[in-house]
Amino acid sequence: MNAAMERTDRPEADRPLVMKFGGTSVGSAQRMKDVAVLARVNAQNGVLVVVSAMSGVTDSLFRAARLAFEGNLEAAYALCEDLRAKHYETHRELSPGDGSAAEFAYIDTIIDALKERLHGVALLRELSPRSMDAIASSGELLSGQLVARAIGCRYIDARTLMKTDSRFGEARPDMEAIKAAVKEQVAPLMKPWEIVVTQGYIGSDQENATTTLGRGGSDFSASIFGAALGAREIQIWTDVEGILTCDPRIVPNAKTVEVLGYFEAAELAAFGAKVLHPATVKPALDAGIPVTVRNTMKPEGKYSTIKPGKSSGRPVVALAMRKNVSIISVKQEDMTDQYGFLAKLFKVFGDAEVSVDLISTSEISVSISLDSSSPLAKLKKELQKLGTVDILPGRVVIAVVGDLLKRTPAVLNKVFTVLEQIEVDLVSLGANSVNLSFIVKQEDAEFAMKKLHEIFF
Ligand code: ADP
Ligand code: ASP
Ligand code: MG
Repeated sequence: MNAAMERTDRPEADRPLVMKFGGTSVGSAQRMKDVAVLARVNAQNGVLVVVSAMSGVTDSLFRAARLAFEGNLEAAYALCEDLRAKHYETHRELSPGDGSAAEFAYIDTIIDALKERLHGVALLRELSPRSMDAIASSGELLSGQLVARAIGCRYIDARTLMKTDSRFGEARPDMEAIKAAVKEQVAPLMKPWEIVVTQGYIGSDQENATTTLGRGGSDFSASIFGAALGAREIQIWTDVEGILTCDPRIVPNAKTVEVLGYFEAAELAAFGAKVLHPATVKPALDAGIPVTVRNTMKPEGKYSTIKPGKSSGRPVVALAMRKNVSIISVKQEDMTDQYGFLAKLFKVFGDAEVSVDLISTSEISVSISLDSSSPLAKLKKELQKLGTVDILPGRVVIAVVGDLLKRTPAVLNKVFTVLEQIEVDLVSLGANSVNLSFIVKQEDAEFAMKKLHEIFF
């Protein structure tokens, strides 16, 4: 039975809500109290609240892991003590108790386990993805319990719900197992005015080892839980008024996109709009559940809706950019066996489990863009068996996204007037026709984004 069918046993208006709150939205005791208010007023059919770690905490955990790996255990422990103090402080502001040690025991348990892990990392000078996930999960383990305290509601450790494979650092969800766990543990609690808190980002594999879905993965968790629960809506509460026409850090007067299609949202996310984790859209789309993106600091403000059967109806809906991109070009003078050549070329990327962004082929060469964190040296070595290989680092991919892009030739003209002013390495009009993307040098990227925004919005 698919999710859409399961939902029919509960009329739409009666279905529960999934509300995901990001790091800034749970960044202090006051913010957690605001979250509690928002959850309570929306709980007429029950709410599953999905939380991220408090803002900055996951970054600190990654830093601590790196320090331990480098043998600087003292500095790693100092970060842990900062985290202990921060969460103690938040706890105190939420529920001033008797100050006894027992009150903070849950925080101590998590921080002490974290220190023990870091000790192991420092001792062995080895930081496996498995250890990294156990370390990185500490932030959500802490925030989950604190937010449940702020709301005064039940808390479920997400590791018992989010069952995944064992690809530590980027684990993939096991939808069937998740549906079963959500049905058993969460669905019966989704009664009027009931709220349950769980975490995003973290999960566990078949052996119950802690996994994570990758940085920014809480949005993805919310979407998965929403689909498993047959939610009425999946709300992503963050620090901006929805999905904007551009990253506000680049264009401060970027505007809210009020309605957009799943494919438009997915392209924007895949091409760097950090406001949504790239995998978020898929589970919601499969289950036909709307996703909204809202501002916790301005709940009555504007927001974005990604809805079944809808799209922006615009040639250009928003811009996105992703840094740290490299281009690999493989030149082969003799392309007589071109079909075989491309198959061999893609096999190299497939074998290395590297996903590529844009591809452009000419008579004698193929250029492929990919994330600079890919194993470039290893890829180069393999590709050299096929031809002459060049790597251009320090690139940025820019995406111009819009539902009617391809049907509006004027858009292409406008984009090219901007591109005339800078050097462009690669251009690609996505096969799905909602995305025109191109690659520029890092130093030209912001200029291009600002110019494009000026032209289109
Ligand atoms: P959270 O912690 O709530 O998950 P994130 O920092 O992951 O929040 O995502 C929100 C941020 O995404 C915004 O503060 C903004 O800087 C950035 N961002 C990038 N592109 C966009 C966009 N097109 N629209 C809105 N925000 C964007
Ligand atoms: N806390 C995790 C991160 O910072 C997950 C998330 O916020 O979505 O990446
Ligand atoms: Mg995020």
